[in-house]
Amino acid sequence: MSYIIGIDIGGTKTSVSIGTARGKILSRRVFPTEKVEPTLAEVKGCIRSYLKKYAKGLKKVKGIGISCAGPMDPERGILINPPNMPTWRNVPLKRIFVRSFRFPVAMDNDANCAALAEKTFGAGRDVQDLFYYTVSTGIGGGLVIEGKVHRGASFDAGEIGHSVILPEGPRCNCGKRGCLEALASGTAIARVAREKVKESSLILKLAGGKKKDINAVFVAQAAAKGDKLARAIYAQAAFYLGLSVTNVIQIVNPEMIVIGGGVSFAGPILFQPLIKTVRAHAWPRPYHSCKIAPAKLKEKAGDLGAISLFLKELDLGRV
Ligand SMILES: [Zn+2]
Repeated sequence: MSYIIGIDIGGTKTSVSIGTARGKILSRRVFPTEKVEPTLAEVKGCIRSYLKKYAKGLKKVKGIGISCAGPMDPERGILINPPNMPTWRNVPLKRIFVRSFRFPVAMDNDANCAALAEKTFGAGRDVQDLFYYTVSTGIGGGLVIEGKVHRGASFDAGEIGHSVILPEGPRCNCGKRGCLEALASGTAIARVAREKVKESSLILKLAGGKKKDINAVFVAQAAAKGDKLARAIYAQAAFYLGLSVTNVIQIVNPEMIVIGGGVSFAGPILFQPLIKTVRAHAWPRPYHSCKIAPAKLKEKAGDLGAISLFLKELDLGRV
């Protein structure tokens, strides 16, 4: 039996796990993401404890996979300037872990890793070509072609959250207008709800009467209870997401579109209007060849993303 260490570094939390090549997680520890030095010290401490407990020396661990918010250079293993982690600039993560542990290390952005995890262990196990969306605070994506992540010329392939859906639309965090992320992310859903909500609204009641506390989860809960405004807000986000899915289907002609992230947990409230939009706008043949499915891995996507990335890079002879 051999093991793989998975490191998932996010804007608020970092998780370190050890798992098998079959995707079974044996142990996992989560702690807040701080500045570079203390966070990496904690990660290294976790890895040492796993090695002691599971690996009995260095023999049984094959290597380390790192999933992290981009932008990054996955080949050189350098994290460049993640917007939600302003103190993490130009961090040579790959080199740091290779030097500390003498294991091969693979690294990629979190959406690409999650896409690969869904292909390897989740909803996309039986397909070769898929596009993965993560719809939560922001929107990310990963393109898997013939079982491999397509990274692109500058490693920005799959950045679907910043494709423009509505040119005069709301301002996006990236500085552009009308990006998908500004129209269909959890942040966008909450913003629209705060703009449209009335005194008597169920959304406001669920948020404890405080407009500023409205988030996408309260909107989803209100929609599930039949609240008309909440349903309309979700339907609008689903419409924009559906246009984006239509474009991916027309360009890539994938076998599957997988949709994950917190906003997708709303289920049919999101998926029904989304699929209706795609059916209305995509050509019938690529539409009927493509399954639109919810992600399977949910909270495990980060850990299994890092692990599946390492396995794939090993398979491709790149680590
Ligand atoms: Zn943008």
